[in-house]
Order: sequence, then C-alpha cells, then structure tokens
Amino acid sequence: MDPEKIDFYNLGFNYIETKTMFVSDYKDGKWDEGRLEPFGSFEISPAAGILNYGQGIFEGMKALKAKTDVIVLFRPEENAKRLTESAKRILIPPYDEDKFVKAVKQVVKENKAYIPPYDSGGALYIRPIMIGNGPVLGVAPVEEYKLIIFTVPVGPYFPEGFQGINLEISKKYTRAAPGGTGYAKTCCNYAGTMKPAKETKQKGFAQVIYLDAVNKEYIDEVGTANFFAMINGKLATPKSTGTILPGITRKSVIEIALEKLNLTVEERDISYKELFEDSCTETFCTGTAAVITPISSVQIDDKKRTFGSGEPGEITTKLYEILTGIQRLEIEDEFGWVVKV
Ligand SMILES: *Cc1c(COP(=O)(O)O)cnc(C)c1O
Repeated sequence: MDPEKIDFYNLGFNYIETKTMFVSDYKDGKWDEGRLEPFGSFEISPAAGILNYGQGIFEGMKALKAKTDVIVLFRPEENAKRLTESAKRILIPPYDEDKFVKAVKQVVKENKAYIPPYDSGGALYIRPIMIGNGPVLGVAPVEEYKLIIFTVPVGPYFPEGFQGINLEISKKYTRAAPGGTGYAKTCCNYAGTMKPAKETKQKGFAQVIYLDAVNKEYIDEVGTANFFAMINGKLATPKSTGTILPGITRKSVIEIALEKLNLTVEERDISYKELFEDSCTETFCTGTAAVITPISSVQIDDKKRTFGSGEPGEITTKLYEILTGIQRLEIEDEFGWVVKV
C-alpha cells in the first residue's frame, strides 16, 4: 500500500502490505546470505512441512520512532535468541543471531516510510517467520526452510488511553502441557487458541486466562500475553518451566520491578484462587503487542473479582510508564535495551 494513503493516526492491529521483505533460504544443509525483495507471494509445494504438519515458528517485535525521531528496536537480540530456541524445539536449523538482527534492521530501514510518527503512538510491527517449505510425507522435518521478515504498521494498543480489560479464567481449555511446545513460538500453538478466544469474546471478555493442563489450578498465561499479579505487596508471575512463552516484555518488567521499583519478584505457581483474595491487589498482562495491559477483573463461572475500582493499579501504571518511557527514549535507558536502527 502507498504509505501516503495510510492514516497513521487511526491504525489498528490489521494487516497492511508494506514495500520490502527479507528472505533467506535453507538448502543443501545451509542458510544462504539472504536478500531484500519486494513484498510478495511465493510458490510452495502442497507437500510442504509447514502446510501439513505445522513445522513453522515466528517472532513479533516493534520498531518505533522515538522522541528524537530516531528509529529504535527493543532488545532485538532477545528475539533472535528465542527464535533459536523455538527452532530447536521443532527441528528447524537455527539462523545466525547476529545476521538475524542485521536483517531486521535492513527491513525496517527499507520500510521506513511505513513507521508511524512518534506522536501517533504507533509502531512498525515486525513479523519474522521461519517455515519448512520442503516437501514431506511422513511426520518428519523437511530439507528446505525459509526465513521471511515482513513488517506492518500498527496503531497504539490503547487508542483511548491506558485501560483495563476483563478476562475469563478458562476451565474448559488449556494451551500447553508439560513436555509440549508451549515455550516455543511455533505456529501450531496458536490455531488451537482461536476457538477459546472467540467463545470468550462472545461472552464479553477480552481474552481467556489459561490454567495449567495438569491441575487446572495454576495460571499459565493470557492468550498471547504473560500474566502478573501484585500479591501481598510482591510481584508474582508464573514461572517459566516450559508451558508458558518466555516473553521479552515479561523479562523486562521483572528487571524494572527489581531495579527501579525495588519490588520483590516471585516466579512461582499462582493458583487462580489467589486472585479472589484481598491480598491480590492488581493484575496485568504483558507482550510486545499488549505492552502492559491492566486487568480490571477476572471471572470463573459466576465468580467475579474486580481489582480496586477497575482502574489500572498503581504498580501497573508505574511499570507501564517506565517501560514505554525507555522504549520511546523519553527516559534514560539504563539497561541498554534500546537499539538504534
Ligand atoms: C509472543 C507471546 C508472548 C509475549 O512475548 P513478548 O516477547 O513479550 O512479546 C506471550 N505469550 C505468548 C503465548 C506469545 O506468543
């Protein structure tokens, strides 16, 4: 789409075609150097591993125009590392992490005209995918893979201001089981979450909170965001032991809570029942898309808990201000997280 025709002040989170993508192919046992190409479709065998058995992974990151109009990325080397971990889980040959970050920067530069202006609060969402495009019949890894990095301009997550969401704790569905692929950003983890999301939205909730698959008691995460709660004055979050996606926003929030807010942080099992007690004072969820989203209320069956007045909590708000301040270079980046393109 012609960038001149985009209304950058009214973007949502919808697909818009941009100019250039990065493509690298894995053939004969190695990844090639990769190249920039005009964004476009490509041919794929009906027998491709990705089409038949879901052998594919992805990432999600954002390029922003910071206050000074410089273009920045947030901890892209962490996405590179996670891409490697996801790749290993489903036997995709890993991609060189430095080359990945370099490719991301190239794609962002080429699509510069699509980065929303600083004052719009939007970003250029970056979507790397790595897929098995070689043919296969039995369930097994293929011989050929593709890394594609494309971009889409997106609006701010809170176009109407920083607001909480209402969530349903699902008793019916789970997302990941011990020993499975929950910690990897594999394509196959997401198709199964569409029906739970649709059903809960029909009931008026924004998303579901998934419980652990074994006991149906401990919180795993929220749709595509990690979960946090202030309980007894400490910041608690489900520990990362294979069934939750290890979010980069999650990791950053933990570091900000420890270093900047001097909070005690506990990575532990959190029973959903704890959310219904007075000792739990605020909850929120985190992700590249969701940033830090306050949770106003949670419900399971007919039991509902509203946190405070339903307004974003004090700690949630502070964490949000610090994280977004660092990301947009409005406050000093003491952690060295922001990378200029
Ligand atoms: C991507 C994702 C997250 C958030 O990870 P970030 O690195 O913070 O964007 C959380 N949960 C799931 C299931 C995800 O796919």
